[in-house]
Parts: sequence; structure tokens; C-alpha cells
Amino acid sequence: MLDILLNLQKSAPVSFELIAVNLDQKQPGFPEEVLPEYLASLGIEYHIIEKDTYSIVKDKVPEGKTTCGLCSRLRRGILYNFAEEHGVTKIALGHHRDDMLETLFLNMFYGGKLKSMPPVLHSDDGRNTVIRPLAYAREKDIARYAALREFPIIPCNLCGSQENLQRQVIKDMFQTWDKQHPGRLETMFRALCNVEPSHLADPNLYDFKEGKRLGGKRQAVVQSAEPEASPDFGRLDVLNI
Ligand code: SF4
Repeated sequence: MLDILLNLQKSAPVSFELIAVNLDQKQPGFPEEVLPEYLASLGIEYHIIEKDTYSIVKDKVPEGKTTCGLCSRLRRGILYNFAEEHGVTKIALGHHRDDMLETLFLNMFYGGKLKSMPPVLHSDDGRNTVIRPLAYAREKDIARYAALREFPIIPCNLCGSQENLQRQVIKDMFQTWDKQHPGRLETMFRALCNVEPSHLADPNLYDFKEGKRLGGKRQAVVQSAEPEASPDFGRLDVLNI
């Protein structure tokens, strides 16, 4: 994502600054030298935030329970604070299309919600805006690009959390589908972008009595997905998580 944004910076019709940020959460075995070496070699502004959220999560979450909920809340708070302290106007996260589909399935299977990760998200308190520039990119294309460009890779299975394992099960299922039914993932993603509230069963999104679509909140999110053309897009915070 950083590589793509650095290239985009040169040709985009809007101007923006970039700061690369990585959060070292002190998981055992985290190869802490890899990213600083790489980022230093690019000669760009970067920050490595060191916070031992791993110990907090291990201390607070009972053995065998999923740790991702608390871990990601802590991480989000740290990143939001960093963004505010450094005058950052957009936090860019590296999630891609397959992350979004996996999250959709995880939320359906374990959370009882039809919910994924949006390409643009405004934090509830209005302090931060998260963007996901790779939202429409397939993981396999990104993997090919990463191999071609020889990016340093950090494994994402260091904590061994249950949610991570469940995500892996869904990922395996997607890979099988992709081989046996080419195009299925693309169709699923199209469905994520083409929701019909009148054909679901959420009375907060659709007034089934009156036959009307509801939800000013939904409209606000859709509008915000297309930022106004502006000569200055502000500072982007590129986060590798
Ligand atoms: S997989 Fe591990 S590092 Fe990632 S959110 Fe879950 S607990 Fe945190």
C-alpha cells in the first residue's frame, strides 16, 4: 500500500503528504528490525510506535478466548491518538478485498451481524477518518505484486489467536472456492457493494410497514466514500497492520 500511495502521490490530481507508521505490539517473535530497515531505505518519514499491547491482552483475556477484540481496540486507540497528535487527516489501512470478505463471514458466523470493513470509515467520535486504498484489490494480485517488488514480509500469525485461526479457516474455504468456482469471490464482493435493504430483515434499514428505506447514517457513509475533489488531500497516515 505504501508503494502504491508513494506512486500515486506523484501523479494524483490532489496533493497529500504521507507518514508511514507501524505499531510494534511486542508479540513474541516480532521481527522488529525488518520494517525500520526497509522504511529507512526508502528515505521517507516513518514512525515505529512501540506499545506492549500483547501483555495487556494476555493479562486481561482468559486463556483460550479470542484476543482480537481487545487487541484491535487497543491498536485503534493508539493509532487514532497518533494521528491526532501529528495532524494526520486520513488513516490509510492495508486491508484488501479478501480481508473484507473474510470479515463479512466472520461477523456472520460468530458475531451475528451483516458487517464488513468499509473503504471509508469515520470514527464514532468524529476525530478520525480511516480509508482502505486496497479495498478493491484482490489478495492474490497484491501477493504477486509484493513478490515481484520483493517487499519484506512480516508473518501475521504471531499471536496464534482463535480469531486468527477462524480467519484462516475462512481463507482456506475461499481458496478452495476460487479454484473450484472461479469468479465466486468477485461475485461475493459485488454483493457487498450492492445491498438491498428491502430484501433483508433489518427494520433499522428498511421500514417494512411503510415500504421505505431508512437510515441517514447509511447515506452519510456512502457520501463520504467519494471525497470532494480538493487541491489538498491533507496528510495520510500509512499503517501496516
Ligand atoms: S490476530 Fe493477534 S495481533 Fe491480530 S488482532 Fe488478533 S490478537 Fe491482535
